[in-house]
Amino acid sequence: MGLTGLAIFKLLPKTNCGECGVPTCLAFAMALAAGKATLSQCPYVSDEAREALDSATAPPIKLVKFGSGDKVLEIGDEQVIFRHDKTFYHPTGIFIEVADNDANLAAKVEEINGISVERVGQKYELDGVAVANASGSADTFRAAAEAVAGKTDKAIILISECPTCMEAAASAIAARKPLLYAATAANYEKMVEVAKKVAAPLAVKGEDLSSLAELVAKVGYKELVIDSGARQISQVIADQTQIRNSSVKKRFRPFGYPTIAFTTESDPAMEVLEAQAFISKYASIVVLKTVKTEYLTSLFSWRANLYTDPQKPIAVQPGVYPYGAVNADSPVYITTNFSLTFYSVAGEVEGTRIPSYLIAFDTDGLSVMTAWAGGKFIGEAIGPWLKDSDINQKVNHKKIIIPGGVAAIKGKIEELSGWEVLVGPRDCTSIGSFAKLRLS
Ligand code: SF4
Repeated sequence: MGLTGLAIFKLLPKTNCGECGVPTCLAFAMALAAGKATLSQCPYVSDEAREALDSATAPPIKLVKFGSGDKVLEIGDEQVIFRHDKTFYHPTGIFIEVADNDANLAAKVEEINGISVERVGQKYELDGVAVANASGSADTFRAAAEAVAGKTDKAIILISECPTCMEAAASAIAARKPLLYAATAANYEKMVEVAKKVAAPLAVKGEDLSSLAELVAKVGYKELVIDSGARQISQVIADQTQIRNSSVKKRFRPFGYPTIAFTTESDPAMEVLEAQAFISKYASIVVLKTVKTEYLTSLFSWRANLYTDPQKPIAVQPGVYPYGAVNADSPVYITTNFSLTFYSVAGEVEGTRIPSYLIAFDTDGLSVMTAWAGGKFIGEAIGPWLKDSDINQKVNHKKIIIPGGVAAIKGKIEELSGWEVLVGPRDCTSIGSFAKLRLS
């Protein structure tokens, strides 16, 4: 919650010098409260007032970045507790833990690099590798950090509570800006020194929520990720929920940082379920051990569902898409540009093995029936578009297949475009049998 104009006014010099571009401090305070001015426009704000104003206008959860190049991971900076209140902005980073003394370290990192899943036109990959100092040796940890950095450009988390080991590994890969995990009550002074030296964010691990809050207040470093220390799934969820509530609703600053959670289940199916729970409530980073596409696919989908803007349908670029080695005789299908609809239809069209064109008609990302009800997928819109579309130059026939659910628009399309309309199945899963019957 931002400050009111009056509350801001109390912190301003009240000299009405006008250098900020408005005649009075009160007018400037009102402009600041409305987000129409920035504090830097007033050269006379005291340091004390600036700190108070900065902290009052800071987001409830700090944005933290780590990683390098085009693999910089941004976490935190969420504004709400429930996705339906607004949206979640920074998807949970999904990491795989590897041990620094694992004889198959290089192969495991290759495996992590190789995970790639495509779903409704989006490509999903793992966000990074968490290297654990299982050996307890600074040399082994440093060598493993270097080996991982050499094998992947993904973000890296270094896991060790030994400051000497952390310094060795973090200094060796400082250019990759790893996340350092973790500062505890026993080591935080030295861990903060290492984090400052390599300019990397630092995870702070408590033993419970109150010790975490105390520790965050003590570390005096602002690039933080927090962990209550809980590992039992119910306790992790309870702690994460309290952290999110305290930061968003009460602006409790010690909890105003992104969070990290670790899975503990050894069975991959259970581990993925555990990770799903952590993504839902409200981990900014989740660290797992399983590297198998069949398990991770559901996790990627789960995360994508949570982090899509509920007020903004996911749309594909409107246009004409070829599937297979199309030619002038290829059938032409039309559907809306709502991603889920489009890619479901595209999969079925491709499955007919008949090279075909599929038109993604611009409905602002609405599904077929919603777009039809909203007047965006109707004969009056499709007919004139079809008449002028470049699909006329791609095929030597004028037959178009429309979804069965909107059979009623057939007449209008034919009247306004001069094309013949074939009414396809209501459900796209029947496109295969429709094509066999009508197009073979
Ligand atoms: Fe007031 Fe600062 Fe604006 Fe001068 S520059 S009028 S002191 S807010």
